[in-house]
This record gives sequence, C-alpha cells and structure tokens, in this order.
Amino acid sequence: MAKSVDDLDSSAGSGTPDTADLVAREEQVFGDNPLEVRESDHYTHEYVGSFVEKWDELIDWKKRYESEGSFFIDQLKARGVKSVLDVATGTGFHSVRLLEEGFDAVSADGSPQMLAKAFSNGLTYGGHILRVVHADWRWLNRDVHGEYDAIICLGNSFTHLFSERDRRKALAEFYAMLKHDGVLIIDQRNYDAILDNGFSSKHTYYYAGEDVSAEPEYVDEGLARFKYTFPDKSEFFLNMYPLRKNYMRRLMREVGFQRIDTYGDFQETYHDDEPDFFIHVAEKK
Ligand code: SAM
Repeated sequence: MAKSVDDLDSSAGSGTPDTADLVAREEQVFGDNPLEVRESDHYTHEYVGSFVEKWDELIDWKKRYESEGSFFIDQLKARGVKSVLDVATGTGFHSVRLLEEGFDAVSADGSPQMLAKAFSNGLTYGGHILRVVHADWRWLNRDVHGEYDAIICLGNSFTHLFSERDRRKALAEFYAMLKHDGVLIIDQRNYDAILDNGFSSKHTYYYAGEDVSAEPEYVDEGLARFKYTFPDKSEFFLNMYPLRKNYMRRLMREVGFQRIDTYGDFQETYHDDEPDFFIHVAEKK
C-alpha cells in the first residue's frame, strides 16, 4: 500500500528488492590517486548502485522532512510558483514533496541510478508517478523542454561541477529554462567555514541519519573529498568542489539573476561561520 512521508521510519527507502534489480551493483572507482579526481563528469561514477541504495539511510527522509519544515514550499508558494523543475532529483525527496503539495513537477538528474531509485520512491511514498528525465545540467535544454516558474537544485549538488566554465554553462541553462519572473533555489554546504576553520558540522540538517557519518577526508581550495561511513562499516566517497558563498552569489549575478537572497540553515540572519548549509534564492526579475 502507498505510504506518505509521514509514515516513514528511519530505515525507509533503502534496499527495496525491485529497485535492487534495477540498479547496477557497481563499485565506486577513483583510480590510484583519488585526490586528482576533479572532474565534472565523475559524478556518474560516484553515485553507483550500491551508494544510491544507501543514500536514503544517509539523508533520512523523515528527519529531513522535520528539519526542513516548509521552507522551500513557502518560498515557492510566496512567489505564486506552479511548475517546478527539480534538476538534482537524487532519490526524489524534494520531487515527492513538491507533488504532495500539488506543484507540477518534473524530475531531472544526470544519474540513471538515482532516477530509478527516485521513481521507485515516488510510487512507494504516496503512489506518485515521477516525470523523470535523464539530463546533465550542462546540456539541460537538449533533454528537458518548456519553461518553468522555478528550478531547484538542492542537497549540495552544484558542488559536483569542477570548472568555472561548467558552472557558468549550467547556470545559463537554468536561467534560460525559467520564465521571465522565475526563481532558482540552489543550496550548498558552508565550505567557507570548512576551508577557513576546519569541519564542525552539527549533522542536524541533511545528513541526519545519526549512525551515518559524513566527514571531509581531504580539503583544499579545489577539492573537498568527503567520506560517508554506514553502520555496516561500508564506506563511500564524493569528490566535490568547495564553493565559496560569495563566489557562488557572484556567478549567479553575472549570469543575470537580479536579486539573490542567501539564507543560513533556513534563517535570514546568521553569522557566516555558523550554518552548515547556505540556501540561495535567486530571482530573474
Ligand atoms: N537533491 C538530492 C538530495 O538532496 O537528496 C540529491 C543530491 S545528490 C548530493 C547530487 C545529485 O546531483 C546526484 O543525484 C547527481 O547525480 C546529480 N548531479 C551531479 N552533477 C550533475 C550534472 N552535471 N547534471 C545532472 N545531475 C547532476
């Protein structure tokens, strides 16, 4: 029977047999020197089947639902948004949330494994049929058509782009797919704090699964390599580009967004060092 997000327990969403059949049991490959892997294309080798199956354990839908509250929904509703393109669908948390709230949502991602899991999660949690599209942000217009009131890129996803050229290209694609008064909501880890002060995440917001640790194994100005350790001792890694907050704001402004509000852990006022995550709300008009 279909469940809603409210019915979830902490282990929900991981390892349903039908999904396990769909996704490959591929291993992550970083080669001989993982610290040299600094490429925008590498994400498809990082979100492999076995890690995707674990992802929901890491982000813990129920706790995330509680800690995020209605922040994103309120931002969208306040602007009269109806159509939303979720460009970093992942396992589908926000896409499902949007459908529950009655938005017209399309769910894109560059990882087929993630999309397979998202589609299955949509059916499991509320019987939603997600409209999934396999698309890389850099060529979004090739695979996703139409114009949207809003685009969301959440869960520290934009960090996967390693060159400024790719970041500009992706932002330009997002800009082009928004209506004239559209809004882009994009979030990122507080890398300034990690680069300048070391890592001290309270693990309150995204990686809420208490038995799952997410910590940087290596950080420099061009790479943040995070290690995720699960209760069964399995380990996975993500190589990401440590975006600085003001750099990200500047890029969005240069691409054409007129007004950018940046929240810290969902709050309007904060000391720069404190938040784990920044959320940028960028308006076109
Ligand atoms: N938004 C989801 C969440 O919050 O749980 C997923 C976040 S996950 C950290 C990042 C997602 O971005 C992955 O599903 C990955 O496949 C996708 N991604 C990374 N780079 C991409 C690109 N260039 N084009 C499309 N998707 C990309």
